[in-house]
Amino acid sequence: MQNKGIVYLVGAGPGASDLVTVRGRSLIEMCDVLVYDYLVYDELLTWTRPGCEMIYVGKRSGFHSKPQKEIEALLIGHAREGKTVVRLKGGDPFIFGRGGEEAEALQKAGLPFEIVPGVTASLGTAAFMGFPLTHREVSSSVVMVTGHEDPAKPETVIDWGKYAGTGATLCIYMGMTNLKRISRELIGAGMAGDTPVAVVRWATLPRQESCFGTLATIAHHVAQRGIKPPAMIIIGPVVKDFPVYSWYENKPLFGKRVVVTRTRRQAGDLARRLTGLGADVMELPLIRVRRAVDEEVKGEVFSGLGSYDWIVFTSQNGVRYFFDSFREEYQDLRSLGIVRFAAVGPSTAREVEKFHLAVDLVPEKHTGSDLAKALIETGGLDNAKILVVKGNLGGEALIKRLEDQWAMVDRFEVYKTEPTDLSRHPVAGRFREMGAHAITFTSSSTVNSFARQAEFLQLKPGAVTPKSFSIGPVTSQAMADLKMPLTREAGKSTLDGLIEVLVEELRKS
Ligand code: SAH
Repeated sequence: MQNKGIVYLVGAGPGASDLVTVRGRSLIEMCDVLVYDYLVYDELLTWTRPGCEMIYVGKRSGFHSKPQKEIEALLIGHAREGKTVVRLKGGDPFIFGRGGEEAEALQKAGLPFEIVPGVTASLGTAAFMGFPLTHREVSSSVVMVTGHEDPAKPETVIDWGKYAGTGATLCIYMGMTNLKRISRELIGAGMAGDTPVAVVRWATLPRQESCFGTLATIAHHVAQRGIKPPAMIIIGPVVKDFPVYSWYENKPLFGKRVVVTRTRRQAGDLARRLTGLGADVMELPLIRVRRAVDEEVKGEVFSGLGSYDWIVFTSQNGVRYFFDSFREEYQDLRSLGIVRFAAVGPSTAREVEKFHLAVDLVPEKHTGSDLAKALIETGGLDNAKILVVKGNLGGEALIKRLEDQWAMVDRFEVYKTEPTDLSRHPVAGRFREMGAHAITFTSSSTVNSFARQAEFLQLKPGAVTPKSFSIGPVTSQAMADLKMPLTREAGKSTLDGLIEVLVEELRKS
């Protein structure tokens, strides 16, 4: 059989996770092996599928990154084993990323590879600072240049004089350690000392830091503010003449780390809104739901599908994964036969209705035993055939009550709820390291799972202790039961209400 191994050199963009391309994201989601370095924001790493091998090859404080040859050998080795490898690189893989060398090595090894571009740091920086890199009146060209040509060569061999008189906007990558010398040489070569300069660290991320000055003063300002690499240096009149007000740094939650605790699927809405307000959202997915269907059981269920009197759904996930399985077997909804549907509550019923199917029964209270009670009250469960669609947890009380009434119950488990492994989760790691300004709880079940995983969320000394926020009284009570501190409860028990008190409280600090 032909070896299907392939390497994708993927640009991760400048930082913010939603600046990666759609193609880049889908490759991260499907790859077998992900090889990444330091500049990549940890959120991207959580997109990988379970079982994806993640290999870190970047620098970490004080340590050198893996030698380039070793990285190339790693890519080649995995691709030769038939794996789909994503080599994720900050920004664009072909801008100062040694992507060219990796592509060449793959070419030489006779392995297939593809390149996925990314937003390079200078473009990300300009966009998030709100100044253009070109402007009809003052700059008609852009230069991207490294201030540190090769980490192995301490002296740069760039001839700065060449760039001094071009009138181009200069974007200097990796220039922070040489900033003083670079500005001196540019001035020496005839560039005006009052040419405006911006230095921006962690551009596009909520931890973005910026510093302005001129060629003559910038090194001094940067040293005073203690701004460290990685940062982008941008030199030229565009920096001063057209500083569109910094739309990003002026957002109400800019620079604040806010923890969101829900399952991945549900966290989206709150996380998106907080990110929109400039917050550095840290999603801690405490539980994970995944489709898990036993093929044998599935075969039995679907071969006898027409014989059920009731199909009972105990959760939205159950509905979703049931119909996923159904569609793998049948093209036509009529294959369901004449069957009645019961759902534990209105959101589960709505999920069924999405398939243009009516739900015959929803109990008044939304628990398993109320559902059983309601079914029993319909009468005639003796010898009725009931299919209960469920996850790996719960549902047993419901089933027992039905069986007590002589119903013939088949269980169809379609998904599993599992605690996520926070000991290795990158976002949990960052939380332990740095802490957060706020943590939000939107249900008592997240409060409980948070408490259960507390050992993986111990803050290191010096980390910021978060203020805690609850969406409403039930959640607050769950926190009180566990003796967890509460800073504020939302005035209205909605996401809007939660966000409102959070902004109010964090603005104080
Ligand atoms: N391939 C990358 C560049 C790698 S070189 C790209 O296309 O962007 C690494 C340098 O990029 C850093 O030293 C810094 O100068 C710059 N850089 C990368 N990400 C940055 C960010 N978020 N903010 C500011 N500078 C950044």
